[in-house]
Amino acid sequence: MIASFDSLGLADPLLRAVTGAGYETPTPIQGQAIPHLLEGRDLMGCAQTGTGKTAAFALPILDRLSRTGRATDRRGPRALILAPTRELALQIADSFRDYGRHLSLRVAVVFGGVGQGPQVEALRRNAEVIVATPGRLLDLMGQGHAHFDALETLVLDEADRMLDMGFIDPIRRIIAALPRRRQTLMFSATMPPEISKLAQSILVDPVHVSVAPVSRPAEGVTQWVLHVERANKRALLSEVLRDPAMKRVMVFTRTKHGANRVAEQLDRSGVRAAAIHGNKSQAARQRALNSFKQGQIRVLVATDIAARGVDIDGVTHVINFELPNEPESYVHRIGRTARAGASGVALSFCDPEERGSLRAIERLIRVPVKVVDNHPFMKSGFQR
Ligand code: AMP
Repeated sequence: MIASFDSLGLADPLLRAVTGAGYETPTPIQGQAIPHLLEGRDLMGCAQTGTGKTAAFALPILDRLSRTGRATDRRGPRALILAPTRELALQIADSFRDYGRHLSLRVAVVFGGVGQGPQVEALRRNAEVIVATPGRLLDLMGQGHAHFDALETLVLDEADRMLDMGFIDPIRRIIAALPRRRQTLMFSATMPPEISKLAQSILVDPVHVSVAPVSRPAEGVTQWVLHVERANKRALLSEVLRDPAMKRVMVFTRTKHGANRVAEQLDRSGVRAAAIHGNKSQAARQRALNSFKQGQIRVLVATDIAARGVDIDGVTHVINFELPNEPESYVHRIGRTARAGASGVALSFCDPEERGSLRAIERLIRVPVKVVDNHPFMKSGFQR
């Protein structure tokens, strides 16, 4: 465990910026990753937002940029960060500006959905750091606006979410245009097989760091499990939604298709609902989120990945239409309700095949989830 930023060996202007930001000690991911990154190692980081992962990669990158100059004959950024959404890209760029405030470096952000003129101009001015969403960057590369002769470090942030949003192809094409000799970092909250495969193909002898996800549900969430046959889950959902106390409900499914099906079925039965997941455009997601926040729709159906980073107050109920494969996701899901000291209810629909997932969840949270044994679709013969 690293006790202080001083002992990490970061350049003085960075230490001052970190102090200025009010950080006293490195977070676990920072303590684990920064020393290796300063040595130039590749890295696979398993960490979620909120762990301090942005500083874990931004500080060592800025350190290198501050100690060495740009090779005079090279064009383009020295560090490239790819991120799934415009919001995250802007947030990462702000962090670079914050931590780099005592250095004179330029940071540019590239994302779709707006005019490209200012972004092209920023690229032309040779910003040291570019934070980009993959689609627009590839577009600008195709038009001859982006050059990467000078690139030293590549970061893929929220890699699982980028894959989920269909960015794998643009990412591979961008990487093919980068110098082979470079430092590469990948961060991902989950480790599905596609992520391991991508990591194997682009990382060289990487250091692996992972930080423990939260394992304690928010206090104030009352948790229930309803045992039900898979085929009866939709009917059960309609039934429980008849309760007028269910004012603002988030329903979680395991797949994007599942999310669509549940939302459509609810809509047909007269419950206003919308789905958010990686196949939807940013604009469609935003529209759904706004209507949910404003109470125009009562039920938001989401996959785990789509729900990440979504911050909505006043969610009265979380319904796990399907139990997650990873027990940590359960904790994240039910943490959507009972925010800021409010109370909330989490209902989990568990079919016979999901009993193993339920046991894994109970092991993680170290308490059994109470059983609702008087609902109309009780799985007959169920014994606890
Ligand atoms: P991130 O996981 O990168 O999104 O960071 C989550 C939040 O933690 C951000 O608001 C950071 O400003 C903050 N943060 C990052 N590192 C530290 C630290 N060492 N001490 C306190 N706060 C931090």
